[in-house]
Amino acid sequence: MRSTRENRSGLLCVRPGCPKPQGTNRLHLCNAHWRRWRKGQDMDAPMRAFTMAERIRQYVRIDAETGCHVWIGHSAKGGYGVITYSKGKQKYAHRVVWELHNGPIPPGKFVLHHCDRTNCVNPAHLFLGDNQANMDDMAAKGRWRNQTKAGPGHEPFHKGRRRRPAVR
Ligand SMILES: [Zn+2]
Ligand SMILES: [Zn+2]
Repeated sequence: MRSTRENRSGLLCVRPGCPKPQGTNRLHLCNAHWRRWRKGQDMDAPMRAFTMAERIRQYVRIDAETGCHVWIGHSAKGGYGVITYSKGKQKYAHRVVWELHNGPIPPGKFVLHHCDRTNCVNPAHLFLGDNQANMDDMAAKGRWRNQTKAGPGHEPFHKGRRRRPAVR
């Protein structure tokens, strides 16, 4: 599944098989292929895949007011961002980000938000808690069974009838 919001034009590099978004160059190449072309390097050499951190950066817009890293990619129930992890498997984006910065999430633990924005993936806004902490946290912030009353910055998710991806 490929988001059309990966870059401004949504178009991919014209080099066959290249998965990278187009840069702003006259040949409609990605930045990496454009660099190769200018330097006269081999255009057909294998292209390094995006790292997870690079992919995440493409789906994040920073909220200047709160510092939240707002997820603009696909989202799941509750507004949590999701990202394709490997071979069509999807994971919650905030959990992936937490693991990138802190290592694997201990079994039974949840990644919670200081900022109460479920679509935020700023590692500084994420903390580890258990299930009860998650429930208390949601109850305290009035989010439990009551997502429509969320405050500013909590856009209603899934306005349309978008299919919800299975999230692991
Ligand atoms: Zn390319
Ligand atoms: Zn945040």
